[in-house]
Amino acid sequence: MERTLVILKPGALQRGIVGEVISRFEKRGLKLVALKMARLDDEILAKHYAHLIDRPFFPWITASMKAAPVILCCWEGYDAVQVVRAMAGATKGSKAVPGTIRGDYSLSAQENIVHTSDSIENAAVELDRFFTAEDYFEYDSPLDPFKYAPDEK
Ligand code: ADP
Repeated sequence: MERTLVILKPGALQRGIVGEVISRFEKRGLKLVALKMARLDDEILAKHYAHLIDRPFFPWITASMKAAPVILCCWEGYDAVQVVRAMAGATKGSKAVPGTIRGDYSLSAQENIVHTSDSIENAAVELDRFFTAEDYFEYDSPLDPFKYAPDEK
């Protein structure tokens, strides 16, 4: 099964919607295999947002991501990377489709509630950035036969 990273940004914590957002992934059928709260620093944010380092709003993003703790989660499931990315919606909250997390909880390009990995390759790199092997939990999922066909792994 694929694994992907979700970061519930400081805005999710401050607005008291951490539970609601996590609940969406649970209800979709994704399996929570790692979860922790952390304060991010400039060093890790420079790596995480390296693709935006030359953009004028880069200092705003780092300030926003340091404004309060974040919740880091790893979700596992069939096609998890693209499923979670679709659930997050478009980057700009004002353009995100209702029904997506950003489309239901945000209006901003910056304050858009969640980060989600954008490819299988980046998910692996990002998960390694925020989690170590000891952070992951293996456990039985007895409802899997009610969620998946035998070839959906
Ligand atoms: P995504 O988070 O959808 O993968 P990007 O990788 O392009 O999108 O951007 C990373 C984050 O940078 C966004 O989630 C958002 O918080 C912030 N960001 C992107 N574009 C802007 C912008 N125009 N102004 C302010 N912040 C932005």
